[in-house]
Amino acid sequence: MAGVLARDIRKTFGDTHAVDGISLTVADGEFMVLLGPSGCGKTTLLRIICGLEQQTSGDLMIGGQLVNEMPPRARGVAMMFQSYGLYPHYTVRKNIAFPLRTTRVPSDVIDKKVQWASQLLGIDHLLDRRPRQLSGGERQRVALARALVREPTALLLDEPLSNLDAKLRASARQDIKQFQQRIGVTTIYVTHDQVEAMGMGDRIAVIDHGRIRQLGTPAEIYDDPADMFVATFVGAPPMNLITNNSGYLGFRPENFLPKEMIDDGEFTEFSFRVDRSEYLGAERIVYGTIDGVESKQLITAKLPPAHVPEESIRPGEWHPYAVRNHALRRFDKDGKRVSRH
Ligand code: ATP
Repeated sequence: MAGVLARDIRKTFGDTHAVDGISLTVADGEFMVLLGPSGCGKTTLLRIICGLEQQTSGDLMIGGQLVNEMPPRARGVAMMFQSYGLYPHYTVRKNIAFPLRTTRVPSDVIDKKVQWASQLLGIDHLLDRRPRQLSGGERQRVALARALVREPTALLLDEPLSNLDAKLRASARQDIKQFQQRIGVTTIYVTHDQVEAMGMGDRIAVIDHGRIRQLGTPAEIYDDPADMFVATFVGAPPMNLITNNSGYLGFRPENFLPKEMIDDGEFTEFSFRVDRSEYLGAERIVYGTIDGVESKQLITAKLPPAHVPEESIRPGEWHPYAVRNHALRRFDKDGKRVSRH
């Protein structure tokens, strides 16, 4: 196992600054998520770490060793792509064993390693099948087993769950997180899905336009976003942002409540004009506008449905709403966080 250190990594493709000065330390055994919108540079950074792409400048260290010039194989990292890339004519057993084929590992050791990786991922009963005889989730596990069989110093995963349906994704998130903790392999996981990032990452690097906007634990990213990009990229619906005297005031939809629901502490009151609502089972999302302020999008409140029954939502009506002061976040006119209160 080994940590990964990136120092001022840059990668340009013609005029495109795909990675624009990223410095990042991933601790030994850490689960780091690279989160960002399409085209922000996260896949390029991952490809640079595994050696499939050469950085334009900057240093990369794996396990304390400078690997800038080292070919992918010598780096000892394993990468798993979104497409899995399984060989259709090989059995699961042969697919998993594939990375060991070209090494001088004796066949009985290969068998043991395949057994270990397939047991770890709960696919040891599928070893004689071919990929087309597997479900999407099983294929994903085979690809993971193949990545693990070389016992990599670091595991690099590029959107590994994007081919799975919603239900399978939820269980696969759990599976990946659990086996990662069990074997303690340093993991860098690329996704644009904030639920995956929040649910799996020890820390998250939020990336935009080739730069890290914020690096922190899921709670830090969610509760204390460093800027308005992070505030609106993480959280669904995103943080509400309204113009303030000298910048912006932000608050999460679940902290924007009918005033009668707030019975303690200091709060700030707003007059909220309800527009429409969506019933989502466990919660109701109420959309509207706030009197006297500007906002780029509709303001949202996320409420327990029992507190706002359908018949109480009358479009166009004004209601007193409020946010506890400790839940308010301030941003300057450039969108950078100012202070917690
Ligand atoms: P996605 O989530 O869509 O995969 P990403 O965040 O992984 O996106 P990258 O694939 O790293 O983004 O791409 C970052 C930027 O670099 C994009 O603007 C992309 O068009 C550009 N880019 C990536 N690879 C190349 C290439 N080989 N040649 C030219 N431009 C490239």
